[in-house]
Amino acid sequence: MPIRIHDSRAREVVELQPRDAGQVAMYVCGPTVYNYIHIGNARTLVWYDFIRRYLAYRGFDVTYVMNYTDVDDRIIERAKLEGLPPEGVARKYTQAFESDMSALGVQPADVVCKATDHIEDMVTAIEGLVDSGVAYESEGDVFFSVEDFPGYGKLSGRSLEDMRAGERVEPAANKRHPLDFALWKSAKEGEPSWSSPWGPGRPGWHIECSVMSTKYLGMGFDIHGGGRDLLFPHHENELAQAEALAGEEPFVRHWVHAGLVQMESVKMSKSLGNVVLARDALERYSGEVVRYWTLMGSYRTQAIFSDDSLADAARAYGRWKTFVEAATHALGEGSPNPPKKPRRPFGSSEDPPPDYIGRFAAAMDDDFNSSEAVAAIHDLVREANKNIDGAQRGDEDDRNTLKSLFESFLEMTAVLNFDFDSGADDADLVSGLVEYLLELREQARAERAFDRADAIRTRLLELGVILEDTPAGTRWRLAPSEPAQ
Ligand SMILES: [Zn+2]
Repeated sequence: MPIRIHDSRAREVVELQPRDAGQVAMYVCGPTVYNYIHIGNARTLVWYDFIRRYLAYRGFDVTYVMNYTDVDDRIIERAKLEGLPPEGVARKYTQAFESDMSALGVQPADVVCKATDHIEDMVTAIEGLVDSGVAYESEGDVFFSVEDFPGYGKLSGRSLEDMRAGERVEPAANKRHPLDFALWKSAKEGEPSWSSPWGPGRPGWHIECSVMSTKYLGMGFDIHGGGRDLLFPHHENELAQAEALAGEEPFVRHWVHAGLVQMESVKMSKSLGNVVLARDALERYSGEVVRYWTLMGSYRTQAIFSDDSLADAARAYGRWKTFVEAATHALGEGSPNPPKKPRRPFGSSEDPPPDYIGRFAAAMDDDFNSSEAVAAIHDLVREANKNIDGAQRGDEDDRNTLKSLFESFLEMTAVLNFDFDSGADDADLVSGLVEYLLELREQARAERAFDRADAIRTRLLELGVILEDTPAGTRWRLAPSEPAQ
């Protein structure tokens, strides 16, 4: 079954048709690193992470590129405010962003590109636009001339007249048309700048994304994502620049936009008006609960961030956790081990009870209908819960049904980035740490520091690690753990 996706340019749900069979190349506009990100940006990036994971689950080889806008008016303003150099501000908020993303379980992009690492590429692109007559220099600035690109407005579906009436565009004395936008901004005193054929300056925001996305993904890549607020003018301008420069279309096969977040009755100490920072939300709710909340509505529609909606998410997610505990206990032998990153396309005959996974995949295939996908998982849990008592009593049928439903549960939740099966990762970490302590104990013995060697042995034993010295070296094993209550 094909995957259907809402394409903002087509203004309808269409079949995802990648440029290269079996591959999906996607670019998502990343943050301008001048502040901590708010929950709206965070939700957008969590959503593209789900989309990326789901496409990989469906067998696509996904290449995901995200940028950092690390040179911008807002960074320069922030630098003055914080008494830091602009690059210090960019570094600080890049690190903060990365730690917020990691707390939300968002996998880093395959390519993470910074605007300041690509200035030369941008200068070359701007020169190309000037040469082809769609851009002009004016007093050290370079502008894109919207009237010279006939397709301007095709993404947002508006004519120049509509846009001119609808947007508050600052007419600048050195622009030919009020909607012309800056490709290159001449340097003002004390601002970071790079040399160019038009004098020292820095690139505009829009050109960054055209240049970096096509540098890593080529023209006609599959999915360009971002929040709905970026559709106009940012994405309209990206499209105009890229297609004018390449002299071909399309720049992007599918434009995908995530809905924005509205705050309602949020009692967070640090929230300012209608802005809640992702890190403040993560102080109150776990990354899993915020991710679950993200899945409660369509990625396309506006989401409500409220104490009530987060409490609903926490309750519903709690039902999954309770089920995992009950099922693991009833099945006795620890959780089954599904493939760590299931990648087989749906429909292989090995899928045990196919209806839940089938329903889940059909929902996700339909423009990532996560609320229906999540509902399928809850229905599975309701059915599986009926087998728990029997499985615990040793009833073979109940046990087999529960086992198979539990495996499906783990497969679906893993696709949505809920890890109920972290035992394997923990086991690797534990064995690494124990091996390291054994090395330290060997060193202590070699130095005849027997007290230290014995202390390591005693401490490990207290933690449930039993050591056994053999002629072939020290072996270790874990003491049998108490059965879970
Ligand atoms: Zn962008």
